[in-house]
Amino acid sequence: MAEPTPGEPDSLRLFFALWPDESTRTALNHTGKWLHKHWGGRRMRADTLHLTLAFLGRTPVAQLDALLASVDTVQAKPFELTLDQPGYWKHNRIGWLGPSQPPPQLGELVNTLNNAIQLSGVAFDARPHVPHVTLLRNTVGGEVPACTPVQWPVHDFVLVSSRIETDGAYYDVIRHWLLA
Ligand code: ATP
Ligand code: MG
Repeated sequence: MAEPTPGEPDSLRLFFALWPDESTRTALNHTGKWLHKHWGGRRMRADTLHLTLAFLGRTPVAQLDALLASVDTVQAKPFELTLDQPGYWKHNRIGWLGPSQPPPQLGELVNTLNNAIQLSGVAFDARPHVPHVTLLRNTVGGEVPACTPVQWPVHDFVLVSSRIETDGAYYDVIRHWLLA
């Protein structure tokens, strides 16, 4: 994997994320439709819904093995995530759903992952983590009634490669790790 292969990219746009199971995905998509009725904009495709844990950006493929080996050492227990808080960011016109009370296990997972990435030697600019699932793009925000919370049983996390195309981002899950 460390050897460059003709025709293969020599870097990938990478991020770590929580990737919903089918029933959580359906619930998130349902909330996306509900929020869209209030705020308009463009709904994210159901198959793209996720919660970013750490964003690496362009990463040399030559560093992938070291990254995977380092993240293999991450230890974390499964936990329950309750997403109950719609939010809006004016600067990028994104509408999202997040936890009003993020469980401590989520922050611990993010910290452990950040440490593992740093130890692998992959250049990475960790920003303060705001847990959220993007549901709407190019939206207006505003007042919104209370929404039905989405219960997300978190059993694993994934490494995703993102391809930015003219019609949006396409994600490929390239590896997943179980929490146990
Ligand atoms: P697009 O950039 O075409 O709008 P996208 O934002 O979904 O699509 P990416 O830019 O590849 O695709 O981002 C992948 C994930 O990482 C998204 O959840 C995005 O919000 C998050 N992300 C992107 N850049 C950063 C960053 N600098 N810090 C933290 N998270 C980021
Ligand atoms: Mg982006």
